[in-house]
Amino acid sequence: MKILKKPAGTLDILPVDAIKRKFLEDRIRKIFDLYNYAEVRTPSFEKTELFRRGIGDETDIVSKEMYSFKNDEFTLKPEMTAPVIRAYIENSLFNRSGIQKLYYIANMYRHERPQSGRYREFTQFGAEAIGSNDYSIDIEMIALSVKIIESLNIKNLSTKINTIGSPDERSRYLSELKNYLSKYINDLSEISKTRLEKNPLRILDTKIPAEIEILESAPLLYDFLNKQTKEHFSNVLSGLDGLDIKYSTDYRLVRGFDYYTSTTFEVISDDLGAQNAILGGGRYDNLVEQLGGKPAPAIGFACGLERLMIILEKNDFKYPDEENIKVYISPIGDKAVKESLKLLFRLREAGIKCDMDFLSRSLKAQLKEANKFGAEYVLIIGPEELERDIIKVKKMDESTESEIKLNDLTNKPNLLFQ
Ligand code: AMP
Repeated sequence: MKILKKPAGTLDILPVDAIKRKFLEDRIRKIFDLYNYAEVRTPSFEKTELFRRGIGDETDIVSKEMYSFKNDEFTLKPEMTAPVIRAYIENSLFNRSGIQKLYYIANMYRHERPQSGRYREFTQFGAEAIGSNDYSIDIEMIALSVKIIESLNIKNLSTKINTIGSPDERSRYLSELKNYLSKYINDLSEISKTRLEKNPLRILDTKIPAEIEILESAPLLYDFLNKQTKEHFSNVLSGLDGLDIKYSTDYRLVRGFDYYTSTTFEVISDDLGAQNAILGGGRYDNLVEQLGGKPAPAIGFACGLERLMIILEKNDFKYPDEENIKVYISPIGDKAVKESLKLLFRLREAGIKCDMDFLSRSLKAQLKEANKFGAEYVLIIGPEELERDIIKVKKMDESTESEIKLNDLTNKPNLLFQ
């Protein structure tokens, strides 16, 4: 029969990778906890309306990448900011005092063209801080995202920062930008032509050299921002200087979601190919209101776990070794199997990581497997041992053998390690 395969752009996370992910997730959780961010989990799917209203109809995600079903009523979440804000509003988290600092690690779904570092199901971790428009939280958020990556000894990173102001500040700029770009309409790609009408800001994001050249003389968004926005930005930058966070400002950095306002940032890595962004984030001061909540300014970031793992692989990152089993039990013969099972479960109750042979194999094959598992001790129980109520104890690294009373070990499983 034909073998079924997983859908394109998805991953089977086998034990060898699952253990790496667990290590990274533990590390990430620890850092979030250190910064006093609390975990939030939301459903895998939401009402489609949430993403339409939150991310924006004209964005790539909403216009072509969403996994929607049941007559388009629901959508697998393509990002986490809108769901976190929905949960914040629905559960009245704003009633708790001060600022809400939340983090998540969750799977996202986007119908993109799969390639290295770009999947249709992928894991993001990220944070959202809701309730403050102070520049200090921008600094914490950017620093936090950079520190998580740096904690894994990743080099060759560059952090880019920009400010894109409020929709009001942008609207005058957008008409100037449109005027300017219209002069070059014939030199623009099809996608940029469409964006010129629907979402001209995204053209700044182009990777096409000819368009980048055209943009070099385009009006600068920064020149259209008000004093307050510029002051906020310069405070963010000097705060990052104070923390020794390296960055460069990039006035072309706009992000692929409509909700961003003011500070935006992205971290890119030379160790990734075409998909070189490892994380991105920014302020979204209007999203809470846009989703029906009492206005609250907010900022967040999201980082892709798979891209992080690609970088770690390139840097030969040494993940900590898996914990080996301590004990492997080798039963010889039917009767010994039942005694072995009893002992196996006693050891586990005592918190000792152990396993046994379940295939009635020869002693030689069992010892080979015990070796593979890195077992410290092999306990051999055969007819002769049963007769004498003992167990043969083989210490693997010393190749020594001794005997121990079955009863003694059952009563006191830690005896082996004394
Ligand atoms: P975004 O939510 O688009 O701002 O992306 C934030 C981060 O999520 C990116 O920098 C990537 O690390 C990761 N990411 C986004 N889309 C994908 C994807 N299709 N596959 C793998 N990682 C992704």
